[in-house]
Amino acid sequence: MPAPVRDATLDAMKSRAASGRAVVGPILAVVAVALVALAAGALFEAFRAPPKHYAIIVSPPAGATVTAAQVTRWFDAGLPALATRRGAVWRTALPARGAAPRNALDDLYRHLSPIPWTDLHALVVARRGVANVFDVKIEGRPAGAGPSTRVVAERLLAVSRVRGRLVATGDRSPARLRHKYLMALRRPRAVVRDGAVVLADASWLPLARELAGDMPFARAAVAAELGVSGGRPTVIVVYSSAAEVAAYLGQSRALEREHFFSRLPTTAPRTLWWPTDVGVLASALAPADPWTRHMLAHEVTHTLTWRWFYHTAHAPPLLLEGMATAVEADRSFAPLRAEVAGGNRVMPLIRALAKRDLWNGVAMTRVTLAYLEGGALVKYVLAGWGQAELRRFCVDIARSSLKPAAIERVVRRDLQVSWPRFYAGWKAYVMTLP
Ligand SMILES: [Zn+2]
Repeated sequence: MPAPVRDATLDAMKSRAASGRAVVGPILAVVAVALVALAAGALFEAFRAPPKHYAIIVSPPAGATVTAAQVTRWFDAGLPALATRRGAVWRTALPARGAAPRNALDDLYRHLSPIPWTDLHALVVARRGVANVFDVKIEGRPAGAGPSTRVVAERLLAVSRVRGRLVATGDRSPARLRHKYLMALRRPRAVVRDGAVVLADASWLPLARELAGDMPFARAAVAAELGVSGGRPTVIVVYSSAAEVAAYLGQSRALEREHFFSRLPTTAPRTLWWPTDVGVLASALAPADPWTRHMLAHEVTHTLTWRWFYHTAHAPPLLLEGMATAVEADRSFAPLRAEVAGGNRVMPLIRALAKRDLWNGVAMTRVTLAYLEGGALVKYVLAGWGQAELRRFCVDIARSSLKPAAIERVVRRDLQVSWPRFYAGWKAYVMTLP
């Protein structure tokens, strides 16, 4: 972690103000002499026309308090220039004194201006205990996608009033904050097409176009298998590395296994938005690989079905991954057939349904087995009962305590079949899968 930024300009202004205060004494002495020497009329005259430097002493630039509301208005007035890509207007609207704050504002412009934004606005909070330092979050919707509360960049800026105007006088942002959110991407660009808004570094544009091109396939697959659709555009973020994922999310360490994922948009506070975002690790994909569209179908399933569980007691990952695996339609169920042939002892279905985490500390073969088990469960319910019943079954399982007796009750009530019959039917169905 680099040392905190110390801003030379702000320090210089502080010392100027201090030296200004030092001349108050001599001035008062002069005024005292004048009191003795001059008549009352002359004294009033002196107060009516104070010397210019006296006015500077009573309102030094760095001493005037700036409020969060003022900084919000100041920043919001600059944001349209960012959205319309007028760099000179941006610099005029948001002036800075010193290299650090100028670089901070230029950095924001460089990263964010290539994206077509709607609803860009600033969310400003004054830092407690530090005068005139503000936490400035920029929120907005890339190409109109996602919630308007999506945080796309954040900085800690010192802002002062200089000759009646607000001026950025320091950048106090730690490195973690400077590279958070969309600022994690070196040169962010957007590909807007077919219901997808793909945000990627300029070097990944061919892959971004490929992903956007695969979106109609992915949406059609979810609609065909689960009967789930949604007209809102989906944001796909392409990351160059696992470290970039960690930086984007403000996490201290990279998650090695997280190559493709679905996440709520980065909002503060958390917004239960759908469709959720898709995250893709570019290096985990090969160009023009036919498997990419199946991966996308898997993730798009999450973006549209996760919300079923926003207000339930649980969000069983076996069901979430089961639906996504069923839609993915490019898997061999051979490992699951072997597991069922062996008596389903490694991962008994009723216990797998209750698991809150399928990944942490779990070997990859087990993770794969869980995905296949969930996929087979979803496909079995779809084949025997249908799409509407699958949704009701999933939500009722998630509302239950997830204890075996509770799961058995949901099966009996929603699918009108006893658990032993359901389980035997599922095992027979697994043996028919490819
Ligand atoms: Zn998944």
